[in-house]
Amino acid sequence: MNANKTNECIQCTIKNCTHHADAMDYCTLDTIRIGTHEMNPTKKECTDCESFVNKMQ
Ligand code: SF4
Repeated sequence: MNANKTNECIQCTIKNCTHHADAMDYCTLDTIRIGTHEMNPTKKECTDCESFVNKMQ
């Protein structure tokens, strides 16, 4: 279903996200928002995809 809207500009491996393209490691959204949970982000681990939605919800 999501494969029709695969956005090849946004690579993603988070298969637990409802916006993931399932068969391919891409997002299906037109745009995503990246943020942080840290006061002073210094590593990639500090960044978050704020467009993530748990597929299990
Ligand atoms: S919304 Fe974020 S986490 Fe979800 S598939 Fe797109 S890029 Fe990945």
